Amino acid sequence: MDSLSEEFFTSRAPTVEEQTKEEIKNKVEKSTDQLGKQEKDTPDLVPVNLLLEVKKLLTAINTLPKGVVPHIKKFLQENFSFQIMQREVAANSQNGEEIVPVLTLRFLITQLEAALRNIQATNYTAHQINVGYYLTLLFLYGVALTERGKKEDYTEAENKFLVMKMVIQENEICENFMSLVYFGRGLLRCAQKRYNGGLLEFHKSLQEIGDTNDHWFDIDPTEDEDLPTTFKDLLNDFIKTTESNIMKQTICSYLDCERSCEADILKNTNYKGFFQLMCSKSCCVYFHKICWKKFKNLKYPGENDQAFSGKKCLKEGCTGDMVRMLQCDVPGIVKILFEVVRKDEYITIENLGAR
Ligand SMILES: [Zn+2]
Ligand SMILES: [Zn+2]
Repeated sequence: MDSLSEEFFTSRAPTVEEQTKEEIKNKVEKSTDQLGKQEKDTPDLVPVNLLLEVKKLLTAINTLPKGVVPHIKKFLQENFSFQIMQREVAANSQNGEEIVPVLTLRFLITQLEAALRNIQATNYTAHQINVGYYLTLLFLYGVALTERGKKEDYTEAENKFLVMKMVIQENEICENFMSLVYFGRGLLRCAQKRYNGGLLEFHKSLQEIGDTNDHWFDIDPTEDEDLPTTFKDLLNDFIKTTESNIMKQTICSYLDCERSCEADILKNTNYKGFFQLMCSKSCCVYFHKICWKKFKNLKYPGENDQAFSGKKCLKEGCTGDMVRMLQCDVPGIVKILFEVVRKDEYITIENLGAR
């Protein structure tokens, strides 16, 4: 034990103030269990509502289906040691006075890792373990990693959602969780600003909710009446938000684009530069240069850019055809790759000339 926890210990426990410092020190060093016990005995420690704390950290799970909540509670009850949390806070705190046990993302991730390791160590078969619990842990872990948002976190989160999918499909159990797999992947893609991909995942998640009367997908009512009451409503909200993000943030139309934000177009990365395709009904579709290349190779192998003149608009459902294509490498400077003068424009120009 370091001196900081000792300081915390002494300042928080006035009943032992009469003991000499030496005695306290011995006690602290004797065993960490004893320290935990002492902390428990301290009267003014307010127990935290861990579920609330977790929701604060992972806002995305504020409104999870009822079916998942018991598993989350099980995790919080069995894997969280209040004492461990407090010791950690104490060790990090500069003075012993303002210690409020706050759940940190780092701590949550560590606890989830430990809980997952425990399950994986049991060499289970899916029917021997509590699969719902296991899937919940995987889901929470994926969401927590997404929230932390390091590059390797994203890879690991993707991995965990894939494991969930495999467990469900191979064993044909807990199928309701499939909706959460896609939901998690949607959150992940949106965190990466891959809004098109995110939208697709949210739609898949919605499709997985077959029976809308299944109470598993209900959401506990909260005081906030604006919050959705079913997971389906929640997904529809996410879909709306993602669609508006797609509209607002000049974004690349390539579904597997990893960097759909406008800022990247200007920065010196692989994603620098873009193409803009406009249709006769005024849709503007953007692609990073690198993504356009990939998209073309995939869907129109061998075509050159000029061949897109007059082709059907790339936006789904639009009946327009492509009338203009621009290339931009440096902000403010565009190169026209092709441009078809529209009939109505042509007439307007003619009329103007006749005046
Ligand atoms: Zn792109
Ligand atoms: Zn169009």
